Amino acid sequence: MSDSPAPPVAVIGQHVCGAQSCDTAIPAESFLCEDHTKLLPAPLRCAVRDSYTPGQLPSANPYLRAAVDAVTHKEKRAAPRAGLRKAVQLTLFEM
Ligand SMILES: [Zn+2]
Repeated sequence: MSDSPAPPVAVIGQHVCGAQSCDTAIPAESFLCEDHTKLLPAPLRCAVRDSYTPGQLPSANPYLRAAVDAVTHKEKRAAPRAGLRKAVQLTLFEM
């Protein structure tokens, strides 16, 4: 037998979290992993839970798109800043 490369991680009944930065495997009936679901505002969380059908893509469901956007936004806000910016005017006083 030839050793074929391992198949990609695809467990039946599971898929990866819908958040862009996340590849956690989750059950087919959820759209986001538990950590990312917690980031959503409660009404959006309910809308996603009620409207998501397994295998559905965000392009087919506006609630999923909103959820992906909300998670991306929260993650960007939580990320540390690259460095504090100094007010442009203050550079005039540098010698
Ligand atoms: Zn996730």
